[in-house]
Amino acid sequence: MENKKTAILVVDMLNDFVTGALKCDRGLATVEPNQRLLRAARKYGVHVIFCNDAHIKDIDHEFKIWGPHAIAGTPGAEVIPELELCDKDYVVPKRRYSGFNHTDLDLLLRELGVDTVIMTGLHTHMCVRHTSADAFCLGYKVVVASDATDSFTEEDYKIGIEYLKSVYGAEVYTVDELCEMFAKQA
Ligand code: ZN
Repeated sequence: MENKKTAILVVDMLNDFVTGALKCDRGLATVEPNQRLLRAARKYGVHVIFCNDAHIKDIDHEFKIWGPHAIAGTPGAEVIPELELCDKDYVVPKRRYSGFNHTDLDLLLRELGVDTVIMTGLHTHMCVRHTSADAFCLGYKVVVASDATDSFTEEDYKIGIEYLKSVYGAEVYTVDELCEMFAKQA
């Protein structure tokens, strides 16, 4: 893993997922590890890309299942303040589970020269999994930051991680391990 060829894909760390419409305690617990990881990434030249739900009011397909959430232009669709979105970061709005679905994420990763994505955010067995699926199919190496992603339940989380490992060959590291890897290349 080379720092400059690596991007962290931070999935749906938005107000509605952490403290709003779809909030959950397990999501809240991923805030601090994500903070630590992003701090190290920005310091050591790893790209940071936020893959953010940005739904259209009333019509979006997903609302049938989850109810209204992360509507574009509302505070619920903003990155949580703790992650301190900055000028060097990139934001890719999405309207489906996967960050690649009808977005320019693949184009952005190619322009940045990225070959490896590190997955974090919510939820491990849904948006993280679907984004990982597309990343794998497009030829990216998939890495998961195990303590910076979670699901509504422990069971969903475990199923998510196992699926990423077995189906996409994802390598799983803790945030501390990843920070150490970034620092070694400094
Ligand atoms: Zn959504």
